[in-house]
Amino acid sequence: MTDSKKMPILFVGHGSPMNAIEDNMYTKNWENIVEKIPQPKAILAISAHWYTPGIRINDAAEPKQVYDMYGFPKALYRLKYPAKGASTTAKQAKDLLGDDLRIDNGWGIDHGTWSVLCRMYPKADVPICQLSVNKQLDAKEHFVLGQKLRQLRENGVLLFASGNIVHNLGEVNWNMEKGHVWASAFDDYIKDKIKGQQYDAVIDYKSAGASADKAFVLPDHFYPLLYILGAADTNDKLHIFNDSCTLGSLSMTSYLFS
Ligand code: ZN
Repeated sequence: MTDSKKMPILFVGHGSPMNAIEDNMYTKNWENIVEKIPQPKAILAISAHWYTPGIRINDAAEPKQVYDMYGFPKALYRLKYPAKGASTTAKQAKDLLGDDLRIDNGWGIDHGTWSVLCRMYPKADVPICQLSVNKQLDAKEHFVLGQKLRQLRENGVLLFASGNIVHNLGEVNWNMEKGHVWASAFDDYIKDKIKGQQYDAVIDYKSAGASADKAFVLPDHFYPLLYILGAADTNDKLHIFNDSCTLGSLSMTSYLFS
């Protein structure tokens, strides 16, 4: 564990829910990335899988674990991740985002969050609240929400965003280890812009050209990245890991700013 006053922020490409229970190079890196992060007081998770009209957050003492995936082996549905809720963090987020943010305990902690955190923090000993991705906002507006949440870094809260920069399930090829040419092209385009802190070009992701048209059908898995870019500081050190596409049309590329 490193020591720092300001918490790092993290975007993780989560990929298949099976990563919760399988061992591969991606999950190995999820386990290892924790060494670069001081022990958080709480986690504010922004999950692609809670895609809602309006913006919501949960603050339950014991948030429900949502098994929001279908047709996977039983072992995945038996996995328990009993993290406590983070009502103090939810309150701080509400103070920062104002009345636009609604408390909603009807959903819970979904696999966008727990499938990764069960590898990073297997003891489930860090309290979590989850923020939804408001489907009514555009990319720039999500980035601005990230800017507003930046202050949580000073409070020992880990901003943890979970999605996939390329996420086109209609183009998945289960026999492909890597990505389609267009998938890697889009992933590389976004990576170059992030490295250059050209976040306007990430917000205006259509500037990538033809690859942007295939990268995703809905932006639910892309938008969580924008919260992390919004919360980033110019002097943050960038660490890129799981830098690859898989199954043709999923990007696992992940970004830690610290
Ligand atoms: Zn997903």
